[in-house]
Amino acid sequence: DLTDPELASEAELAFEGALRPKSLEEFVGQTRVRGQLQLLLTAAVMQQRTPDHILLAGPPGLGKTTLAMIVAHEGGRPLRMSSGPAIQHAGDLAAILSSLVPGEVLFIDEIHRMARSAEEMLYLAMEDFRIDIMVGKGAGATSVPLDLSPFTLVGATTRAGLLPNPLRDRFGFTAHLEFYDEAELEQVLARAAAMLGLPIDGEAVAEIAGRCRGTPRIANRLLRRVRDYVLVHGSGRADGSGGRTGRADLEAVRAALDLYDVDELGLDRLDRAVMQTVLTRFGGGPVGLNTLAVSVGEESETIEAVVEPFLVRIGLIVRTPRGRMATPEAWRHFGLSERAPDAA
Ligand code: ADP
Repeated sequence: DLTDPELASEAELAFEGALRPKSLEEFVGQTRVRGQLQLLLTAAVMQQRTPDHILLAGPPGLGKTTLAMIVAHEGGRPLRMSSGPAIQHAGDLAAILSSLVPGEVLFIDEIHRMARSAEEMLYLAMEDFRIDIMVGKGAGATSVPLDLSPFTLVGATTRAGLLPNPLRDRFGFTAHLEFYDEAELEQVLARAAAMLGLPIDGEAVAEIAGRCRGTPRIANRLLRRVRDYVLVHGSGRADGSGGRTGRADLEAVRAALDLYDVDELGLDRLDRAVMQTVLTRFGGGPVGLNTLAVSVGEESETIEAVVEPFLVRIGLIVRTPRGRMATPEAWRHFGLSERAPDAA
């Protein structure tokens, strides 16, 4: 799915790697977070210690992995990458922690999905750079303390609220990443187009920026499809006046994105399913989060962390104490007329 904010394939992974900003300077947008990180990193250098542990919270595709790489790169530190689902036993984590070199940055993506036993081991590791390893079984089991190299943990999560408090409290700093505005997305796109060697018109960039769900990952992905389109068809003018100039113009963008069924707001299949459910099945709401999740066959965590924040941000949904409600804009966008209020 072209607008799924999650990573799709190995090919995309390689493509993203090539486009990743390498420094805070190059990183577009998130001005507040950038300033906060800059301060934290500089202070650590001045005090000649490893930077505090950092938690990055926000929907997928907004730059959490990129920032973790930048934290390592800016400090000239090695980076180890892992993820919550890969750490299913305390032993998995012990193996990683005990092999870290001094000053290494450990990135744990989806840290809220780590095994509970590993989580507890992490508390001590974060606080004292120490773990206790259990040796033996049953009554003869003893715990052996093991000193670790000082390291910086960078955790990423789609929702900080999913982390247990003791874990959240051990991060020196939590950065909340926001969806990008269109001007920022235009910068992301212009940079990526230049790196891809794709000549592109300003209005073409603006069109993609408006349809990428406020998400750099999706912006880059759409740009890639536009590049394909231009490669095959030349620029997008139907009368051929643009010729095969290899230039991405507004027509090419529209044609490419229509081909892949990306609407003007950049809504993806799940966004649309959620909106259709709220609008037609529940008459515009209010509808509770869990009911909504069950209706569209998705986990409520995904609805709450990925779908809802975007729909709220673009003004299709409002959260009320009684549940989620569609806005008049939502009725308009889906070409439905709002049901008249009940006569009662
Ligand atoms: P996350 O880890 O939050 O899912 P990533 O860090 O993997 O997101 O970012 C996805 C892609 O989006 C990266 O390949 C990167 O090229 C691009 N990207 C993300 N944030 C930015 C940014 N601020 N500026 C430029 N490109 C970005």
